[in-house]
Amino acid sequence: LLLCGCLKSAHEFCERGLEKAPGDEELKQAQEYIVNLAKRRLKTDAAVNAEDFPDQGLVRREVYPWNDYEPDRYSKETLDFLNEELAKVAPKCVALVTELPTLGDELLTGVDADGTIPTNKQLGLFAREDIAPMETVLLEISALTVNNSQVYPLCDACSSELPDVGDEQQGVPCELCTETVYCSQECHDFAMETYHTAVCDRDVDGIAKNSHQRETANMLHLLLLGRALAMSETQQIHPLELKEVKYIWGDFLPTSSNAVPSSPQAGPPPVWTLPFSFRANITGPLDMLEKMEVDVFADIEKYDLWIFNTLYSKFRGTASARVNKLDGRPEVAAVHPLWCLANHDCDPNVQWEWGMRMKLWARDRRIDGRAPGVLKGEEIMNHYCDIELPVQERREWAKGSLGGYCMCDRCRREAKEEEAANGVAAVVSMVSDMSIANEISRAHELSAANEQPNGVPEVNGIRQAS
Ligand SMILES: [Zn+2]
Ligand SMILES: [Zn+2]
Ligand SMILES: [Zn+2]
Repeated sequence: LLLCGCLKSAHEFCERGLEKAPGDEELKQAQEYIVNLAKRRLKTDAAVNAEDFPDQGLVRREVYPWNDYEPDRYSKETLDFLNEELAKVAPKCVALVTELPTLGDELLTGVDADGTIPTNKQLGLFAREDIAPMETVLLEISALTVNNSQVYPLCDACSSELPDVGDEQQGVPCELCTETVYCSQECHDFAMETYHTAVCDRDVDGIAKNSHQRETANMLHLLLLGRALAMSETQQIHPLELKEVKYIWGDFLPTSSNAVPSSPQAGPPPVWTLPFSFRANITGPLDMLEKMEVDVFADIEKYDLWIFNTLYSKFRGTASARVNKLDGRPEVAAVHPLWCLANHDCDPNVQWEWGMRMKLWARDRRIDGRAPGVLKGEEIMNHYCDIELPVQERREWAKGSLGGYCMCDRCRREAKEEEAANGVAAVVSMVSDMSIANEISRAHELSAANEQPNGVPEVNGIRQAS
């Protein structure tokens, strides 16, 4: 816990240990060390209440060497399956293997010494026929849709608003636990088949609701994880075999590049980017399984801790969130596995809106003035961040959320223009801000609430739809 930056939890364990073994030297030293580290991260010399210690840590994103569930995402089998699913929700699209510019590290322009842009293999979505401006491209509903709303009632399955009392069309409750209500018979039946049986009348979601505001994003991700566990139990499928989960790329790094030395002095290394806390990654999911009456020891094959981390890797970076209309807090989160096959570009040819379903349609305007619409054979370019943001902010978002600078044409063009305009000063400030995160950020920025312990700005990994 200490090494990955969860100081509050680490301190709590010391306390519990010292209760059992008062005066234990090793525990006392560890506790002292944690307190000093917390003061450093909070940039204070004064006494700090352990309740206020930073507790957001980071761990690796990787395909664990014993994980046999990851499919070959570029195999014919995978593409055939995805294209069968796409035929139902995006009949004019086809999934293909494509080459994408590798997310940048320190380079401003992202170009190698010899002028080529490094690329890597990814899946992408392509038009199989011409798509006109404003034409619908995809309409997807996902069982991985959750909400933390306690203010006004949302459909348990699709999180759309339930009809008002007295409306002609009424919500459809579960026959057994009447507090779970669906917007329609369709959502009711869908929930029973996919996930609700495992959680019926067990208040599983309650574990992740009612939390501190700064925990909102973490708890929405925990709800997503809980939903995946409920789907796994209801359908009797391993969580990593769920079709909604299996083909998502979790921004995994090779085990070797994750295995960098980590010293308690320095906090988690910058290559570790998966948010981690004792509650969200360990006790939360285990509590949920216990409420589902799953014997986690007997079912360790399905519900081991590394499986939770693998699910989080897949959700963090692909989940979208919708905010509450009244207070602006993220309230609904969802993962749309087919929608997220469409890669990001800061000059996208499609736009999305997410109500009951995720809807993608062709934009009627391109940022660089190109003709709108998508021609047969062209790639569908989605947008995962607010494309109105200036290049620097878009790139910071990508660094925090995707793990590297966006290398799309527009970003490279605008970064070059900015570089030319600002001269060397911009280069220095960007490099020191973003890349030498180890030292500079740790010293100066760590206490900022929105900063992760490795100096990467906290972008909670949720795309927000307003
Ligand atoms: Zn619904
Ligand atoms: Zn029920
Ligand atoms: Zn870009």
